[in-house]
Amino acid sequence: MSCIDEVTEILDLLYKHNWDERNGGNLSYILTEEEVNFICNPNNIIREFKYSFDMSELVGKYFIITGTGKYFKNCLKDPINNLGIMKVLDKNTLGLVWGYLDGGRPTSEAPTHLKCHIERLKQDKEHRLVIHCHPTNIICMTHVHDLDSNHFTEDLWKMQTESIVVFPEGIAVLPWILCGGEEIGIATADKMKEYRSVVWAQHGIFCTGKTLDEVFGLIETIEKAAEIYMKIFDKKIYQSITNEQLITLAKAFNLNYRKGIID
Ligand SMILES: [Zn+2]
Repeated sequence: MSCIDEVTEILDLLYKHNWDERNGGNLSYILTEEEVNFICNPNNIIREFKYSFDMSELVGKYFIITGTGKYFKNCLKDPINNLGIMKVLDKNTLGLVWGYLDGGRPTSEAPTHLKCHIERLKQDKEHRLVIHCHPTNIICMTHVHDLDSNHFTEDLWKMQTESIVVFPEGIAVLPWILCGGEEIGIATADKMKEYRSVVWAQHGIFCTGKTLDEVFGLIETIEKAAEIYMKIFDKKIYQSITNEQLITLAKAFNLNYRKGIID
């Protein structure tokens, strides 16, 4: 299976989960040179894209990145127009080696993605993937819950047993900030020093990790917890998961969970 098949399968699943309406959402995935060789000649630079921020730490790496204005809905049937494979040529330049056939360019969130990759690679050498999408219940929660990251994490952990197992480091939450700009990119990458998942209030989520399965599973689990929250938060609660039960769970699964939330 080529990297294009793997990525378009996940993009299609994200669309079918109703998390990427219209041109909502974007993805960037670090590829190995072998994976790129399988698709195209990685030394044939078709076009260049200049950026004003410093990406020297990524020079030489290859990324597959969704195109700006493109719909996840269309990626599976038409990857070469909707996706691009890029090499980081120097600290300010991405070189296109495959894709964006109709003249397209990388997502407007590409600087945010690349800044997140820089931070996550410092935390985890095996890190490869950033997905941004618009899961309904996570967005709902940012309308009815306070935006304190610890409070948000605590409630998501307490919605279902699997939450703390899947995201023991918790979830960071940012207030509403203009998307596509520098401020939100810097704020998101800053949170990525400690978290794999950053919620953008009234917008969506950025999730990162090593593999397509891991990151898709992370989004699914956070969204499931948020869905449970939205179904019960205004109901009479008879019992819930306690702090002691979460600590018991953490010990049983040997989890390095974020301190200062339940203890
Ligand atoms: Zn978005």
